[in-house]
Amino acid sequence: MTPLAGIPDRGYRPEQRARALVEALPYIQHFRNEVVVVKFGGNAMINEDLAVTFAEDVVLLRSVGLKPVVVHGGGPQIAEMLARLGKESEFRDGLRVTDSETLDVARMVLVGKVGRDIVGRINMHGAHAVGLSGEDGGLITATIRDESLGYVGDIVQVNPGILERLLAEDLIPVVSSIGSDITGQALNINADTVAGAIGGALNAKKVVYLTDVPGLMRDVNDPSTLVARITVPELEAMIADGTIAGGMVPKVRSCIDAIEFGAQGAHLLDGRVPHVLLLELFTDTGIGTMVETRQP
Ligand code: ADP
Ligand code: MG
Repeated sequence: MTPLAGIPDRGYRPEQRARALVEALPYIQHFRNEVVVVKFGGNAMINEDLAVTFAEDVVLLRSVGLKPVVVHGGGPQIAEMLARLGKESEFRDGLRVTDSETLDVARMVLVGKVGRDIVGRINMHGAHAVGLSGEDGGLITATIRDESLGYVGDIVQVNPGILERLLAEDLIPVVSSIGSDITGQALNINADTVAGAIGGALNAKKVVYLTDVPGLMRDVNDPSTLVARITVPELEAMIADGTIAGGMVPKVRSCIDAIEFGAQGAHLLDGRVPHVLLLELFTDTGIGTMVETRQP
C-alpha cells in the first residue's frame, strides 16, 4: 500500500509489522464486541507522552472492535488548582474534606479540564470520544458518605443506559468521576470506585486500572514482590492485614465490586509503561496483577 500521509516511520520492517498484527489476532477475536473499562490515573495522566500513547491505545481498541470506556480521576490536578486559588485542604482519615467551594473546583477541573484533555487527544484520531460526567443521563446516583467529609459520595446506583447508547454508536465514553444525589447535588467520587461500578453494570469483559506502580505488591517498596494473580478472598485478607493501604484500598475494593456485580475480570497495570493496555490485552506478556474470577 502507498504510504499514508503523516504516518511516522518507526523503523519496523514490514515483516515485523505483519507478524505483530497476526500474533494479536486471537486476542482481538477474544475481545471483539466486548466492553473494556479503563481507569486512567496516576502518573500516566500527568505525563504528556504517556497520555498521547494512552489515547492511541484506546483508539486502536475501538478500531479492532472492542468497546472501550474510559473513567478518569484527577487528584493531582485538583490539588494544583486548589493551591493556585490559595485554598487549603483539610484531610480526615486520608480523605479530603470537600466543602462546596472545593467541590466546585473538583468538578470544574475533572469535567472541564482533565476530561476535555483526554477527549481531545482521542479525537485527534477521529471524532469518537464523548466526555460526560456521572451526573449525565442519570449515570451515577450517589449519597453523601459522611457529613463531616462534605460532598464526598458513595455510589448507590449506576444507570448505564447513556453509556450503552454511546457504545451502540461506536463512540468512546470518557467519564469524569462526579455523581449526583437524588436532589441533583453533585458529589465527588473516587474514580476507581466509579470504574468498578460501571464495569459491573456493563458486564465488562475486563476492568483495567492504570496506576503508578507495577501492580499489587506484597511489599509496596519492593517491586520484586509484585503479585501476578490473586483471588478475591486473598485480596480481602491483604486489606484486613494492612498490606494494601492508601489509594490501593479503593482500587482493590473496586476490583472486588466490579467482579461481584458482573464484570468478568479486573487487572491492575503500570500506567508508566508505554502501550501497557495493548501489551496486556493483545499479547501473552503477563504483566501487572490479574484478579482471578470464579469462572474457569
Ligand atoms: P491512582 O492515581 O492510580 O488512583 P493512588 O495513589 O490512588 O493512584 O493508588 C496507588 C498507590 O497505592 C500506589 O502509588 C502505592 O503507593 C499505594 N499502595 C498501597 N499499598 C500498596 C500495595 N500493596 N501495592 C501497590 N501499591 C500500594
Ligand atoms: Mg486513587
